[in-house]
Amino acid sequence: MKEFKPLFEECAASPLYIAGPCSAESREQVLAAAEGVAKAGIKIFRAGVWKPRTKPGTFEGVGAEALEWLKEVKERYGLYVVTEVATPEHLELALMAGVDGVWIGARTTTNPFAMQQIADALQGVDTAVLIKNPVIPDVDLWIGAIERIYNSGIRRIAAVHRGFGTHHATLYRNDPHWSVPIELQRLLPNITLISDPSHIGGRRDLVAPLSQQALDLGFSGLMVECHPMPDSALSDAMQQITPEVFSGIVSTLKWRRTPANNNLLSEYRMHIDTIDSRIVELLAERMEVAREIGVHKRHHGMAIVQRERFNELLESAEARAEFMGLSRGFIHLIFSAIHEESVRQQSEIQGEN
Ligand code: PEP
Ligand code: MN
Repeated sequence: MKEFKPLFEECAASPLYIAGPCSAESREQVLAAAEGVAKAGIKIFRAGVWKPRTKPGTFEGVGAEALEWLKEVKERYGLYVVTEVATPEHLELALMAGVDGVWIGARTTTNPFAMQQIADALQGVDTAVLIKNPVIPDVDLWIGAIERIYNSGIRRIAAVHRGFGTHHATLYRNDPHWSVPIELQRLLPNITLISDPSHIGGRRDLVAPLSQQALDLGFSGLMVECHPMPDSALSDAMQQITPEVFSGIVSTLKWRRTPANNNLLSEYRMHIDTIDSRIVELLAERMEVAREIGVHKRHHGMAIVQRERFNELLESAEARAEFMGLSRGFIHLIFSAIHEESVRQQSEIQGEN
């Protein structure tokens, strides 16, 4: 059984909040973000110095120069500062600058060679390490990365859930696959598990609901991207919120901690919650496709409701339900409601100019 320690003793009480910009862009931007974060009563500040970007030619962070600004954040506001490292060189520079912790990004966690190099460089070092989930929903790959860091002697470790890459359109930028972090928590019950609703949702309006969902599922904290002027952010502008907005969200969040020694009932409930999340996600995905069909129908001057099509769909859903031990009536009701909502959404599209 692995024995993890809290990232920072002072922040051992949950929930644990980490906030700050996606990237450190300038001294002024970093200090303004840190001032807002400190005013919100949050103790841990994040900012990316080196940014792993999907495509070349986008802003890749200012590099080591930004470490000086993080030093200033510590001195001025007394915040703990954390940044992303992807190589032993990044790690060495960050530690020399006195950061209090580092996070390993999703792309790095995916690569065991890169993880081992960082783990080797952490031998004999006392720092906090946050390990984001790999880009694919593979719990063993995530745990393997955590084990490498643990084996190098680090005990102040947190796992950060930031969702998983997906090739199909979903409501989210990165599919949450809640069952993966829940499985991680089952296998490593005493690890600090943090959610990153900014990278999961990819949208400002999803930060609040995803944060509450994570807390409801037993996560111990949140890492949220906060920028003093989100619209002008050089990376991830769509998902960043101001520290003031985050402070407002924090004040509305409900914290219902399940007992540490999870009893069977709370395990069942967590399972139900995961299934319910999947149902909502699938419904959102279905409506997205229904809207696309709506655009197609409008383009070709077709009627919205095609009775035959609906009858076929209903019959096949009811037959499948019966085969799986569910009543036809129950499925009839649910699919009628789903169909009604699709028709409503398509009517909206027909009505657009
Ligand atoms: C980030 O936190 O800004 C980041 C790059 O995260 P991820 O590795 O989760 O994409
Ligand atoms: Mn980001």
